[in-house]
Amino acid sequence: MPFDLAARLAARRAENLYRQRPLLESPQGPEVVVDGQPLLAFCSNDYLGLANHPQVIEAWRAGASRWGVGGGASHLVIGHSGPHHALEEALADLTGRPRALLFTTGYMANLGAVTALVGQGDTVLEDRLNHASLLDAGLLSGARFSRYLHNDASSLASRLEKATGNTLVVTDGVFSMDGDIADLPALARETKAKGAWLMVDDAHGFGPLGAHGGGIVEHFGLSQEDVPVLVGTLGKAFGTAGAFVAGSEELIESLIQFARPYIYTTSQPPALACATLKSLELLRSEHWRREHLQVLIRQFRQGAAQIGLQLMDSFTPIQPILIGDAGRAMRLSQMLRERGLMVTAIRPPTVPAGSARLRVTLTAAHSEAQVRRLLSALADCFAQLGAEPSHA
Ligand SMILES: *Cc1c(COP(=O)(O)O)cnc(C)c1O
Repeated sequence: MPFDLAARLAARRAENLYRQRPLLESPQGPEVVVDGQPLLAFCSNDYLGLANHPQVIEAWRAGASRWGVGGGASHLVIGHSGPHHALEEALADLTGRPRALLFTTGYMANLGAVTALVGQGDTVLEDRLNHASLLDAGLLSGARFSRYLHNDASSLASRLEKATGNTLVVTDGVFSMDGDIADLPALARETKAKGAWLMVDDAHGFGPLGAHGGGIVEHFGLSQEDVPVLVGTLGKAFGTAGAFVAGSEELIESLIQFARPYIYTTSQPPALACATLKSLELLRSEHWRREHLQVLIRQFRQGAAQIGLQLMDSFTPIQPILIGDAGRAMRLSQMLRERGLMVTAIRPPTVPAGSARLRVTLTAAHSEAQVRRLLSALADCFAQLGAEPSHA
């Protein structure tokens, strides 16, 4: 039996690692309906609360009326339309780079950028906690692939010593499952000193971080020389879908020539670009969203510390509670659900073995009262679980 899928599935279940998709029956937001149950959710990446914003919806509608629905072809054939081009210019402006290139998803942007820049004879060095799409991109590139210790510039430096060929150093900006941010000034220093290039995937930083939502690079005040390849995704704080790579004229022209996930795919619907242009405008101008988010983050961290929960070193909207055992994390997630709250348990292989967690995410659409409700439910669940026999 070459394909014993039933056995693989049974093993995954036995390890408490089986995945099931919750069915969302409402728009994204703090109050959702999931599998028929109304829930207060703390697990989306819609950090600024723009995924269901009336002005963004209206821009989408107007875009569809003017441009139709489908992209119709790849960008290089006849699928590159006015809204895509305008969005690229707006994203270049947001990032302060000469150019930006729109991709259909963040996964594809990462695959495209890494595989276009390095190949056989080159080196790609990645943080060991990087997003799966970056790790996959490194493996697919054919370059020598090595992972350095998490956010550790000296571990990176020792690998840079042994690097051959064009060398690309790749890191998440905000680490998606931990919420901590990359020590970009130190990583950039080591990388530049060796004539290598730094690529930052700031999927979770654009929007919440930086004075104008420009993400981790704006937060640290870094230049294009520090971070030549800057990736952002549009499905998180922008509230829409898609992704972009920002950088020099030569970088973007190279991606148009050589990035296969850019070339061999249909462009995103132009109306989606219209919606993103509106959400980008709100992301940059409505500072209250970032400020409110910071208030909620402080409130959550203070409350969680009082309960004695083990948080991570994060000042971003990603505020995981470390649990350890996957079964215990699942049980807590289920207990919260019974109390009307949705917080996802994140288990291996998404996170390292033994570090299952409840991944709490906060958004600007949450209220302080809702965060209080979360804290009191957490206190309740942890107290109850402490009194139960172990579920290991
Ligand atoms: C979500 C995410 C991606 C993938 O982006 P999509 O547009 O959802 O494909 C890439 N990198 C990081 C760090 C992410 O969190």
